[in-house]
Amino acid sequence: MDPVSPLEQALHAARALVLADLVAGEVAEADVVSLVEDSVVQRRWWVEQWPDGAAYVAGLVAQDVQDALLERYGRWPLCPVCGSGDPHALDVEPELGPNPHWVCHKAGVKVASVGSLGGSLGGGMPSS
Ligand SMILES: [Zn+2]
Repeated sequence: MDPVSPLEQALHAARALVLADLVAGEVAEADVVSLVEDSVVQRRWWVEQWPDGAAYVAGLVAQDVQDALLERYGRWPLCPVCGSGDPHALDVEPELGPNPHWVCHKAGVKVASVGSLGGSLGGGMPSS
């Protein structure tokens, strides 16, 4: 068995985190999962060119999938914090950095880490 490279570990982790958030939002349909796969393939190329960016892959895949879903399905993930007003999507912060998390710019709160959205949907208190 070849040891799994840090790069592959980062890609696997990114895929798992974004899939967990899709499952939390109940949008993990087969064609949505393929959007994640497409993003991972593209980011594999990207991170091979720039291995120092491995820690940024999860946030980038999350944003790729968010963009792809916006074209096909609509906003994702919807903000679970704001109970009223127009439905709006959460944003990934930092856009290019380690430890990405979902934030609501309207309420100005950090909702959950990427991959932990399931814990914040369903009435949990948002952490700031
Ligand atoms: Zn909000």
